[in-house]
Amino acid sequence: MNAGALKAGATIGILGGGQLGRMLALAAARLGFQCHIYAPEKDSCAFDVARRSTCADYDDWSALAAFADAVDVVTYEFENVPAKCAAFLAARLPVLPDPKVLEITQDRLSEKNFIAKLKIPTAPYASVHSATQLADAAAKIGLSAVLKTRRLGYDGKGQAKIAKGADPNAAWRKLRHAPCILEGFVNFEREVSVVAARSRDGKVVAFDVTENKHREHILKTSLVPASVTPAIAREARAIAQRIAHAFDYVGVLAVEMFVVRNGKSHTVLVNEIAPRVHNSGHWTLDGASVSQFEQHIRAVAGWPLAKPIRHGRVEMTNLIGDEIETYPKWLSAPGAAVHLYGKKEARPGRKMGHVTRVFSD
Ligand code: AMP
Repeated sequence: MNAGALKAGATIGILGGGQLGRMLALAAARLGFQCHIYAPEKDSCAFDVARRSTCADYDDWSALAAFADAVDVVTYEFENVPAKCAAFLAARLPVLPDPKVLEITQDRLSEKNFIAKLKIPTAPYASVHSATQLADAAAKIGLSAVLKTRRLGYDGKGQAKIAKGADPNAAWRKLRHAPCILEGFVNFEREVSVVAARSRDGKVVAFDVTENKHREHILKTSLVPASVTPAIAREARAIAQRIAHAFDYVGVLAVEMFVVRNGKSHTVLVNEIAPRVHNSGHWTLDGASVSQFEQHIRAVAGWPLAKPIRHGRVEMTNLIGDEIETYPKWLSAPGAAVHLYGKKEARPGRKMGHVTRVFSD
């Protein structure tokens, strides 16, 4: 145990009240911690499973001060926590991972620059904040390409593809001329991610590489192990490890990557870093001896990380929008573990639950 490690019974504060906060709180409870969720949305599904909750905005300084007094460490399940809120809390108590990580990953340009500085490959990219820059970027990178807003994009929101021969300005108009990056379109063979934990004393433990299939830009299925060669899997895990060390990270992060085939060889490009537990790591709840949620709680508490052992081949399927209505069918499917997030309203594109199946083959 590290000096300064929390004792079982301590209170972990979590910023954000979605399903990730809910599953973090459940994992924390299993280790004897209490959780206090802080989120602005009244119907946050993490409130249902935590000892305490505060429903207030991220700029409600008196609510944040009371929250800081009530918890022993703060972490988050949501990467768009405003920088001022994270700094306010960090001046009072440990906030993990360090808010500087949020600052970098909240902006696609600074995130890509950070990755490039580590000499880790990405798609070619350029900053766009004027029509001239957009024309220059399109000429330099070539079309087809993807224009992405620098901030607040997720699940394909804040993105526009520009096909060969199309007008880049039309795509930028669609994004309301927000500051953007233009990225070369990657003709990837598959998308994979690595979910890794780093402890307070700098040890990194990565889960097996996961292969991710999206539908309408939203993760639909994760398959583990990814069907990549051992060399690619090693490379993907090594990339996640380098990023975790470079951030001096504490907690779980996910690195989303593209695997690109060049003739007989492959390249691994980093697409995005999520400084939190991640949907592509949900399989670990049922498919491994320790989950991403428990690893995160262990890391921020200053506890040692566990060594994950995978129980078999795993498939995780998200239940999105009204697919949640199929849950009774899954309840009687052999070997299926059903997770329902308790959200009241099944809006299109909303993640409502997931199902994991572990196969011993
Ligand atoms: P992102 O929000 O950056 O994670 O992008 C969401 C999804 O859009 C990714 O999972 C990919 O399927 C696709 N995508 C994003 N960037 C690119 C790119 N440069 N080339 C091809 N597909 C992309």
